[in-house]
Amino acid sequence: MAIEKGALVEIRAVCRDVSTTPADLLLYSFDATRVKHRPDCVCWPRSTDEVAGIMKICARRKIPVTPRGAGTGFAGSSVPVEGGVVLAFARMDKILKIDPEAMYAEVEPGVVNQDLGTALSAHGLFYPPDPASLRSSTIGGNVMTGAGGPSAVKYGVTRDYVMGLTFVLPSGEVVETGVKTLKWAVGYDLTSLMVGSEGTLGIITKIRLRVVPLPKTVVTAMAVFNGRRDVVSAVAAILRSGAVPRTMEIMDSTAVKCVEEYLKAGLPVDCGGMLLIETDGGDSAAVEMEKIRAFCLSAGAREFNLAKDGREADQFRKTRRSISASLNRLRPTKINEDVVVPRNLIAELLDGLDAISKKSGLPIVTFGHAGDGNIHVNIMTDRSNEAEYAAALKVLDEVFDLVLKLGGTISGEHGVGLSKKPYVSKEMGEGAISLSKRLKRAFDPDNLLNPGKIFP
Ligand SMILES: Cc1cc2nc3c(=O)[nH]c(=O)nc-3n(C[C@H](O)[C@H](O)[C@H](O)COP(=O)(O)OP(=O)(O)OC[C@H]3O[C@@H](n4cnc5c(N)ncnc54)[C@H](O)[C@@H]3O)c2cc1C
Repeated sequence: MAIEKGALVEIRAVCRDVSTTPADLLLYSFDATRVKHRPDCVCWPRSTDEVAGIMKICARRKIPVTPRGAGTGFAGSSVPVEGGVVLAFARMDKILKIDPEAMYAEVEPGVVNQDLGTALSAHGLFYPPDPASLRSSTIGGNVMTGAGGPSAVKYGVTRDYVMGLTFVLPSGEVVETGVKTLKWAVGYDLTSLMVGSEGTLGIITKIRLRVVPLPKTVVTAMAVFNGRRDVVSAVAAILRSGAVPRTMEIMDSTAVKCVEEYLKAGLPVDCGGMLLIETDGGDSAAVEMEKIRAFCLSAGAREFNLAKDGREADQFRKTRRSISASLNRLRPTKINEDVVVPRNLIAELLDGLDAISKKSGLPIVTFGHAGDGNIHVNIMTDRSNEAEYAAALKVLDEVFDLVLKLGGTISGEHGVGLSKKPYVSKEMGEGAISLSKRLKRAFDPDNLLNPGKIFP
């Protein structure tokens, strides 16, 4: 749809930063999936009042609105598929409050995850959710996708840290939810309902987050294995032992080879897989890592390298964080999924994926959060080759069937957006989908907020 001139005049009267230049419309038309749809205008609000003002105009004039953080999403959930207004939060990027006594922080949605971490560390505090995109993704986007990261195995995901929200409904009404306490039992849990709702229910303008003490020590190690089965056995033994590593990230042999081509870091390209492991806390972190070393060696690790210093620890982490960017060396397109299976069934998942890959002839690269069963499954293909891409989508269907058969879920952290919309009904029952749609109508009766997402 095109926005009428009169609407733009009204929007410009409440929001200083509005653009309709072709360059901005292109820049705000896609996320990390590269699915594109141009909006009609981009607004960069600076306050809750500005957001409420824009929403009132859009509600009256029936203009779709799509909120957007940094656009790093892997599900197309910030792509404005029906045009209209993109609300971009890059200029609502203030850390409003850090309370070291009550252990919470209040932020605007455009704060970049890593910037919050840096600010908190000066107070001896820590905000654990650490998506690999933490250098660019925003807290608003993290909350709306329910983002997780390597530290989820010990600390949980974004959902576990959101104490309260301020958000604007499509009507322009401002709602505050949540508490400043650790416990509460008053009314419906609207905060949790908003988390992971992918910008379809309300626009968040302020977020209160629980924070924890910054661990004094972090110990980082990289284990190298000859075979993938050995990596999985090590993970199972570590988890069974009751050890709680802060991070336990698996990389398959193809991922290792791609990262080596990308980084030229001297990685062991002949290995069957690697495991990045971190423990944290006080002195116990080193003791726990020693136990983990023993489990890795008895599962068949051929090397167990402890990072000598912070620089080497960063290099180990960089190896893991570079996988996503390095994979395009294999094939031009990756269908990147973030499935989760019960963590005792990782071996079954990987074996099943091997069988699917062999049958289809398409490479499937796996890596990710082995500690919580959340494995990134990358079907490597070429979108410009129609027949191959159609075959890749068939493979995706089989992957989801396998995951659900194992009692898993089709998304652990990226959300549904556009890319998983056709598969939602494989996982959610009719009753749950119908109630969700009625909830959406209660928040957004005219379907103006991030339309076309999540539900078929
Ligand atoms: C290299 C790379 C690595 C990644 N690694 C991880 C990972 O380890 N774990 C993980 O979970 N994800 C990961 N991701 C995916 C992505 O970074 C996350 O989904 C992230 O949370 C998106 O944040 P964003 O600021 O980019 O939000 P966007 O992509 O811009 O938006 C995401 C969703 O949030 C909504 N939204 C944004 N701001 C608001 C707001 N103020 N109010 C209402 N809705 C809003 C949007 O409409 C959209 O639905 C990775 C992505 C890349 C490119």
